[in-house]
Amino acid sequence: MTRLLLRNFREVPDVALSASGIRIRSADGREVIDGSGGAAVACLGHAHPAVLEAIRRQIEKVCYVHTGFYVGEPVEALAEHLVGHEPGGLTHAYFVSSGSEGVETAIKLARQYALETGQPQREHVIGRRQSYHGNTLGALGAGGNLVRRPPYAPILPQASSHVSPCYPYREQRAGEDDAAYVKRLADELEAEFQRIGPNRVMAFIAEPVVGATLGCQAALPGYFKAVREICDRHGALLILDEVMCGLGRTGTLHAWEQEGVAPDIQVIAKGLGGGYQPIGGILAAGRVVEAIRAGSGIHRHGHTYAAHPVACAAALAVQQVIHEENLVEQVAIRGRQLETALKRRLGQHPNVGDIRGRGLFWAMELVEDRETKTPFAPELGMNGRVKLATYARGLACYPVGGTIDGVRGDHVLLAPPYITTEDEIETIADLMAAGIDDAVKGLPR
Ligand code: PLP
Repeated sequence: MTRLLLRNFREVPDVALSASGIRIRSADGREVIDGSGGAAVACLGHAHPAVLEAIRRQIEKVCYVHTGFYVGEPVEALAEHLVGHEPGGLTHAYFVSSGSEGVETAIKLARQYALETGQPQREHVIGRRQSYHGNTLGALGAGGNLVRRPPYAPILPQASSHVSPCYPYREQRAGEDDAAYVKRLADELEAEFQRIGPNRVMAFIAEPVVGATLGCQAALPGYFKAVREICDRHGALLILDEVMCGLGRTGTLHAWEQEGVAPDIQVIAKGLGGGYQPIGGILAAGRVVEAIRAGSGIHRHGHTYAAHPVACAAALAVQQVIHEENLVEQVAIRGRQLETALKRRLGQHPNVGDIRGRGLFWAMELVEDRETKTPFAPELGMNGRVKLATYARGLACYPVGGTIDGVRGDHVLLAPPYITTEDEIETIADLMAAGIDDAVKGLPR
């Protein structure tokens, strides 16, 4: 009997014994390709020697210091690496231990910015439906995840509301061109600002490429420019959550670079430490930090493990490898190969409604009927079935979405490590296609 409080008691996970490159080996002797890098985390794959060495060196020097007394050696270097040559005006970094803590930090920083600039009435966050920003109560409150929110709705912070995401596959109307759809979404956001009271909104939060809830859904061109304009006009901050899609995953270092806008606060996590250590954080615009420096001079936030020296050493090594080995460019190249490989095998599959993504961040939306876009019945748990069938063939993919509580659409997500070779991309696409077929064949008749 397990002593662990498992995520799913009907599905006991295998014990991982070792992992290297893009492969994980379990206690029963099986080897599986880590096709989703866990949950889009293992960007360098496993056991990269430069990262292991950096962790070893840091552990021997200083394992832990509290930021009230000291800052670890690699912490400033990591901040400098991330924002030192930042194109978007982000000038400062703050490190925590997870994406959720990063989102909490971002929301609290937006609130403190409102207070420091004499706008105490700004207390409302606008997010989007079918969005996920983390599992802590503040992050769940900002997120519009209909699968995870409802049980906790009564105890979530109330000062948030949600507008439609940019989800062309299901929500762009027949005959509506991209510009008209973007305008409709911008009008909806503007109307929400007006409903709340424009000077009561402290921030709008969104993922540039949505990961866990909409399966690698990028926005249409112009969407984020429109969002940026609305936030600026009403004096609200733009928080971009790049926990999943950031730090090279979509083929540029930051996903927002492809949108032509920069955020006021950016949340980072998974690709920051690549899973070698638990680490997340925020990057903040100079004007936000300056308001605090010139005002109270105190950032009213903190965690015991903020700026953990070993986590920062690991993240610095991960980011240096990405930079020195030109892995962001490599992601763009391999991403085009993965797109082609997936579309060749699954582009006409009767149960794959949409294949979408950017860089090495791709998802398939699973449907019962491709023509009508009818989702699978929720009780089938189709994304979970595909996950198990694909895993049985030797590929780990990540089930996301889920048709629950009015949210339509099961998705499975691929986010292979940036070091994945061309041959391995083909293998991943083969296994993915075979896994979907197996899952469909295994459906109850
Ligand atoms: N934000 C996004 C976009 C995420 O995808 C996630 C996790 O999947 C989080 C925040 C929360 O990160 P964590 O699980 O590290 O707390």
